[in-house]
Amino acid sequence: MLSLPMQTGLCRNCNYALRDLPEARCPECGTAFNPADPKTMNMGRPIGPFAKWILGPTGCPWTLTTILPLVWMLWIFREPGPYYMGIFFIPAVLVALLIASRFVWTFIRMTTAHIYRQPYLPSQGNRRQMILSACVVVTILLVLLKVPLRIGFALSRPAMESFVSELVNEPFKARPPSQRVGIYRMSTTLRRNGSGTIQLHMDGSFEEGFGYSLEQIEYAGTNAGSGGHLTGPWYWFSDD
Ligand SMILES: [Zn+2]
Repeated sequence: MLSLPMQTGLCRNCNYALRDLPEARCPECGTAFNPADPKTMNMGRPIGPFAKWILGPTGCPWTLTTILPLVWMLWIFREPGPYYMGIFFIPAVLVALLIASRFVWTFIRMTTAHIYRQPYLPSQGNRRQMILSACVVVTILLVLLKVPLRIGFALSRPAMESFVSELVNEPFKARPPSQRVGIYRMSTTLRRNGSGTIQLHMDGSFEEGFGYSLEQIEYAGTNAGSGGHLTGPWYWFSDD
């Protein structure tokens, strides 16, 4: 028998009650423990896999619930539309949701630790949190600098050039209402604004799209929203 004074705890792995044992090892699952060190045993209530997951390291869920919304944000900002009303609103909502989810998660962990009488350990991984916070800041900067739009357009520019020349040269050819142009889905209806700029609209909206003008222009859209120059004769716009 062990000579150390034995504290009665449960196996951290399988909840077996660790008492009167010939060696410091769970007879049920083989997990070793130290009878003198309460941290090696579960001194609280028996704990199931779900509560164990809640109280365990939270790295992977954290990373996913931060990175996926950021990827989604970069994706929606590939189009001109969100740069008008959404440019500050969408990142602000996202940051608020991320902060709120941290508070909610901390509350759930503290409550679970209390119910199961477990020591509460704050989420570990400060380094990971720093990296994730940096990802949030970088993503917002990329959006403010319109990088997703510029990359999306750069990837689509060759397709966009042949699309516009096809629409101009064969205006009466039968076409489906929309088609894929590079990474975008565009309406095949060509319009011009008051100053004659050719407007290519995103599918399903006549308020956002790309403008084509050989002359330098202020705004490629129809009424003042947001817009700007991309490269060469290309502009982007999102109407009010
Ligand atoms: Zn065990």
